[in-house]
Amino acid sequence: MVHGRVLGTRLGPRCQSLLKAGVLRCSAPAEAANVVPKTVHYRAFSITPQTFRERKPLGKDESIAAVTNGAEPAINPAFADIAFAFDIDGVLYKGQEGIPGAREMLQKIRQQGLRYVFLTNGGGAHENAKAASLAKRLGIENPEYVLKDRVILSHTPMRGWDDDIKKNGTVLITASQPETARQLARQYGFQRAVTPADLIAANPHIYPFAHLRDSLHKETSPLPDGKSAAAITDPYSRSIPPDALKVDQILVWNDPRDWALDIQVIHDLLVSHRGYLGTLSSHNGDASLADAGWQQDGQPALWISNLDLVWRTEHPVNRFGTGAFLEALKGVWAGVTGGAAPLRYRALGKPSRHTYEYAHERLLRGDGGRKPLRRVYMVGDNPESDIRGANEFAPRDGASWESILVRTGVFQPTETEPEPRYKPTVVVDDVVDAVVWALRNEGADVSREWLLSA
Ligand SMILES: [Mg+2]
Repeated sequence: MVHGRVLGTRLGPRCQSLLKAGVLRCSAPAEAANVVPKTVHYRAFSITPQTFRERKPLGKDESIAAVTNGAEPAINPAFADIAFAFDIDGVLYKGQEGIPGAREMLQKIRQQGLRYVFLTNGGGAHENAKAASLAKRLGIENPEYVLKDRVILSHTPMRGWDDDIKKNGTVLITASQPETARQLARQYGFQRAVTPADLIAANPHIYPFAHLRDSLHKETSPLPDGKSAAAITDPYSRSIPPDALKVDQILVWNDPRDWALDIQVIHDLLVSHRGYLGTLSSHNGDASLADAGWQQDGQPALWISNLDLVWRTEHPVNRFGTGAFLEALKGVWAGVTGGAAPLRYRALGKPSRHTYEYAHERLLRGDGGRKPLRRVYMVGDNPESDIRGANEFAPRDGASWESILVRTGVFQPTETEPEPRYKPTVVVDDVVDAVVWALRNEGADVSREWLLSA
């Protein structure tokens, strides 16, 4: 925990009174010593932040914070060029339970006009649905005000994909709820999205098992443009019937439920000739080609929306995520290819650079006009995704991303592995401490108590 008690004893009388009055910042030179050094008081690992720039000097008119009561907060000028990116699972809630203080913290930084987004590897539903579930678990009464238009899911960057791909390409999409994912893909602009359920409805021979057809695979749509999933009978014939289904992209969104079916149809496309379902590429296993010919014949690109092997719920042992599905697929692929070729795929979500670029751009846009950024604090619980991604990301505008690891989620230090594989700028107990740490790093005398106050 941040030591509000200790902080309180270090404050000068002027700051004490300002804080009591709800004012955030006190900048009188005589009180400069009150600014607690960055690395003090935090039970961080032996990590000394070396990447911080010099603290920004205060302007003459920045001695008090903007006091806000209305719906449109004035921006505290001291914080005009910093921002936060919050992971959600394990940071703001765990399972169905909100992390204590997360609600008050969000409301406070909104009041201060700080820029922030929620950068989660979750997905499979609309961004607004994630915002609604976040509001419910945190007990936020005005979610529009605090949460709206700030959620970036693992697949949200696909909103910005080329219109030509979305209009003219056929995509196979799978997720925890494939039909929900298809509807969302349509909202993103993908006009020709098919699900594994569509394929087995169109051709039951694709998957010779009946389970889940009355539940997960109940909702189906006809294949686009009258295409057929049973048009091809000779997999090596190159006389492709005009109604044969050709898939151009494979999109694995979040946490597929029917791994067996999904791995089957993804495999079928990865060994096909140019993505025509029911064909087999003659390049497969050709030692004279790169990767022994595997995935060398115009097969669809495979996109995985996030690589999280595990995630955190109320259960004491971490649960498998989309990354675990990928590992299973890799295992099957190694069996199919005899280990002759790695599985070629592309990833979205943290830690991919593409996702951080999208978040950075969203933060630059702010709530209105485009405003420059100097520093962004990524608050996460997963060293492999949240921390690694922030550490490796260097935006073109020269802003820095700093990583703050919380102890409320995936990362749990053990005797054998006391430190995370990817080292953050700092480790703190929870998201409230993370924000206090960041604001103090910016030179603001703030306490946990202040952040949690209305
Ligand atoms: Mg998380």
